[in-house]
Amino acid sequence: MKARLDQRRACRRSRRQRHTRYRPARFANRRRRAGWLPPSLASRLANTLTWVERLRRWCPIGSISLELVKFDTQLMQDAEISGVAYQQGELAGYEVREYLLEKWGRKCVYCGATDMPLQVEHIVPRVRHGSDRVSNLTLACETCNEAKGKRTAEEFGYPQIQEQAKRPLRDAAAVNVTRWALFHRLSALGLPLETGTGGRTKWNRTKRDLPKTHWLDAACVGASTPERVAITAAAPLAIRATGRHSRQMCRTNAAGFPDKAPKASSVVGGFRTGDMVRAVVPGSSAKAGLYVGRIAIRATGSCNITTATGTVQGIHVRYCQPLHRGDGYTYATVAALPPQA
Ligand SMILES: [Zn+2]
Repeated sequence: MKARLDQRRACRRSRRQRHTRYRPARFANRRRRAGWLPPSLASRLANTLTWVERLRRWCPIGSISLELVKFDTQLMQDAEISGVAYQQGELAGYEVREYLLEKWGRKCVYCGATDMPLQVEHIVPRVRHGSDRVSNLTLACETCNEAKGKRTAEEFGYPQIQEQAKRPLRDAAAVNVTRWALFHRLSALGLPLETGTGGRTKWNRTKRDLPKTHWLDAACVGASTPERVAITAAAPLAIRATGRHSRQMCRTNAAGFPDKAPKASSVVGGFRTGDMVRAVVPGSSAKAGLYVGRIAIRATGSCNITTATGTVQGIHVRYCQPLHRGDGYTYATVAALPPQA
């Protein structure tokens, strides 16, 4: 989104400089309405809502589980305000560990070691009356943890660790806004909406012995996750937002200067770039065969088709049958998991 808006801005600036009718620069007459989001974030939100609505059209969806936060900082600090699992400490431990991994960059804070078991470490040790609060915790490898012993991080030679611990995890304000905006818009759909944390998701997934993938994480969001998640032969569909077309009639270079030929016709033989097609090329030429994929049209009629295995050039539109009209997304099937033992 940002690249596209930068391009538009460059075009407009360049146009103002050229010998055309006077267009005043507009920079001081803008007002942002309440709840405004940067276009890149607004587009993410719109994509999510589009897919929630489409899926609702195709199958009976009874409720929505939303991973609202990565960590539940409030529940970590105060285990009293939460449910049974937190009081038992198991889920709370997960939440804290995940938070610390993120905050301290998944490595031993003293020697920088990665790819080894990390221990939750008290910056001011328990024996020196250091608390169990997250602001006093960090991650260290076993060697460093033992070497540090009863010293504080400062005495151990790492005063900066103590400084860093005081600052909470930098939480991008924009991301914060997005998730609440998404929460409110999903609530407006009228379906029961539950929220969960990233720590809960990981806990759910680990409990069910599922591998770490994005789509299985999505299946494990929230407290309502069933005991058994049936994943055998399930193949997720990877959907990527690609946008539709450019409305720009005169293509320009990065500085917004028109240095290319005007845009050619966007419809060739009834197809547009982004359509999913099935092409059967007859005969015995090198190109003969069956291709299924996304078409990129060329004015000559000899087009490119991007299949699951790669891009094939020079397939004429007369061999193509439409499968799915371009809708601003591309689709690719991700391989199914092997059957569960
Ligand atoms: Zn270490």
